[in-house]
Amino acid sequence: MSKPPAAPPVAPEPLPAPVFDSHCHLDIMVGDRQASSGDPVAQAAQAASATVSGILDAARAVGVTRLVTIGYDLPSSRWNAEVAAAHADVYAGVAIHPNEAHAATPETLAEIEELAGRPEVRAVGETGLDYFRDWASRDDQHASFRAHIEIARRTGKALVIHDRDAHADVLKVLAEEGAPPVVVFHSFSGDAEMAAECAAAGYYLSFSGPVTYKNAGYLREAARVAPVELMLVETDAPYLPPVPHRGKPNAPYLIPLTLRCLAEIKGVEPDALCEAIEANGVAVFGAW
Ligand SMILES: [Zn+2]
Repeated sequence: MSKPPAAPPVAPEPLPAPVFDSHCHLDIMVGDRQASSGDPVAQAAQAASATVSGILDAARAVGVTRLVTIGYDLPSSRWNAEVAAAHADVYAGVAIHPNEAHAATPETLAEIEELAGRPEVRAVGETGLDYFRDWASRDDQHASFRAHIEIARRTGKALVIHDRDAHADVLKVLAEEGAPPVVVFHSFSGDAEMAAECAAAGYYLSFSGPVTYKNAGYLREAARVAPVELMLVETDAPYLPPVPHRGKPNAPYLIPLTLRCLAEIKGVEPDALCEAIEANGVAVFGAW
C-alpha cells in the first residue's frame, strides 16, 4: 500500500493586527537560488516548490502582510532586490553573508552599494561575523563587515547583522567603525546581558523561532530585557521554524507563533505588540 499524502501544514491562528517579517530568504524558499551545498533545510524548502505569491498569500491570510527578503551573496542580493521591486509588500536587504566573505571583493561590494541605493532596498545585510562556521576566514569576515558598515552609512539604510558565536567582536567592530544610525541584530542569539548592551546602544533586536524552543530560556530572558520599542520579529525562513514546526521548512506564515510567544514574555496583548513592531518597522526600514 502506498503511503497517504502528508497532511498540509496547519496555519496558526491569524494575528489580531498586521505585522511584518523582518528577515527571510525568499530566494532560498522558492529555489530560484540554490542554498549552500549540503544544506538539508534549504533543500527541503526547495522540494516544497513554493512560489513568491504563494508565500505572500499564506502570510497575508494570518496577518503577516509584508516582509523583508535578505540577500547572502551578489546573485541572491540582485534576485531579492528585483523581487522587492516587483512586489509592493516586499523590501530587500543586500549584502555578502559572513560565510561568503571571501567573495566580498571591491567589485562585488561596489555592486552591493549600487543595489543598496535602490528605493525598494531598505537594508544592508546580512553581514556580520560567524565564528560557528569557518567557511570564510576571520580576516575576510572582519574586512567584509567593516565594508558593509560603511555602505550602510553612505546609503542611509539599516544595517542587518548576522552574529553567530561572535557577540563581543560584533559589538567591538561596530564601536570601532561607528555604528550607522539603524542597526538590527537579526535572529538575536545573545543573553539578557547582551540584550541590555544592545538596547543601551539603541540597536534593534529581531527575535526568531528559537525564542519558542524549550532549551532556549536565555533567549526568553533576553526578550524580557529588550525594550518593546527596539523589538522586531522574523522567521529567517526557511531556517529556524518555531515550535511545533521544528524540522520542517519555515515560512513567513509561521510568524504568529513567535509573535504570540514574545507577547506572553512581555506581558502584553498580541495586537499591542504587533502595533509596536509595525511602528519599529517604519523606524528601521522606512514607510512601506
Ligand atoms: Zn538570514
